Amino acid sequence: MRNLWLTLFTLLAGGPALAASQAPAQTPAQAPAQSPACEYHIRLQDEAGLMLAVQVTCSGERLPVFDRPVDGDLAAALTGFEPGSDGRSLRYGLHLDRLAALANTADIAQRIDRAVISPLSTWLADPGLPEATITLTLEALDGLHYAINLPQRDDGRLHLRRSDIRFGGYAVFGRFSSATVPVGNAVIEVVSFPGRAGPPVPLVQAWIADSAQAVAAYFGGFPLARTLLLVVPVPDRAGVVFGRVRGGGGGTILLQLGEQAQRAALHDDWILVHEMIHLAAPFITGRSAWVMEGMATYLEPLIRTRAGWRSTAQLWQEFVSDMPRGIPALTVESLDAVSRAGLYWGGATFMLLADLDIRERSQNRASLQTCLRAVLRAGGDTTTRWSRERFFATCDAATGTGTMARLGERYARQASMLDLAALWRDLGISTGPAGIVFDDNAPLAPLRRAITTEG
Ligand SMILES: [Zn+2]
Repeated sequence: MRNLWLTLFTLLAGGPALAASQAPAQTPAQAPAQSPACEYHIRLQDEAGLMLAVQVTCSGERLPVFDRPVDGDLAAALTGFEPGSDGRSLRYGLHLDRLAALANTADIAQRIDRAVISPLSTWLADPGLPEATITLTLEALDGLHYAINLPQRDDGRLHLRRSDIRFGGYAVFGRFSSATVPVGNAVIEVVSFPGRAGPPVPLVQAWIADSAQAVAAYFGGFPLARTLLLVVPVPDRAGVVFGRVRGGGGGTILLQLGEQAQRAALHDDWILVHEMIHLAAPFITGRSAWVMEGMATYLEPLIRTRAGWRSTAQLWQEFVSDMPRGIPALTVESLDAVSRAGLYWGGATFMLLADLDIRERSQNRASLQTCLRAVLRAGGDTTTRWSRERFFATCDAATGTGTMARLGERYARQASMLDLAALWRDLGISTGPAGIVFDDNAPLAPLRRAITTEG
């Protein structure tokens, strides 16, 4: 029914006189208000370099407003940004190679080998219509390819919400290779660039699969059914260099990997697991980056310990060494006012306190894992945006302990006292000449052991 309505409207909108005479006959009582929708037809072609030719047509009561970039790199790489005379359409071309040469960053456009990485937010002109549904049809000519992560409709069109454009995921255009890495019922599409040096692709894929399995074990399954992961080679570097998640429309990870990275460097590194953990939580609005970064900073070493890649002593050694860096965030600044420096370990310390509090109040029947799995089950993954109140309420409803609300009041809204030395003592952790020493008779020792083994 709705498709018919759309088709009719599109036909009517073709003639201005008809559209104008039609409008007064539609009262809200007779016809449902048509929700705005914009269709993008995008052609990838080789026209003196990689080029996107885009044609947009919008339907709905309100007209779209496309803002033409007037200066900067994007303006220099655009051609023919021409709104149609009907006020509902737009055509433009984007020279990806030109933009990559000017911007040279993956968050706008970056050339890697014979391809260009560019997020949706760069190349998809925003129609400015709140609540608009966006559908995309992509066509690659001249032997080119693209990789993008958006849900697909039965008719083959990709779709996203207009509000996702600004946070839109990474995409890649041109010539590259890709492989599918399965993780249980989920898949990760891994893009690599065969013209560049780097560790052998099968080795990288096995490491990605291992990391994904470890993350899946914590969350009861990999957080997203489908993820796009771009492995970007970095010359003259060993190990993992940088990672970033962009989740608007679908989860994507950009991972910069040193061309000289060795096998051992991969499983020893924290970045990929950290980014995969970000897939498992909503983007939290407001001054709450500490929730996302704290969760990833606390869970990454824990998940790699549970996977057997590091020892329990190494895990607690890291917490004992690094958590003091986060203490001023809880005791002086408050997490809501935290500076960038305290974001990660301040947030991680909050998550350790939360894990222990939930376990203590539930006699170890629930934990932070119970809370985070509940958020994920409620749809709170990286493709969504939640308030912190919703995140904490979902968590507290699952554990029944009220932990997040209480600790949030104590350390986020205000700063409060925290005796970290007493906490290590109660957990039975001390530092001897040969490293960390555990005391299993300490009052909280059972909770400490449970953190690395269960729930
Ligand atoms: Zn992070």
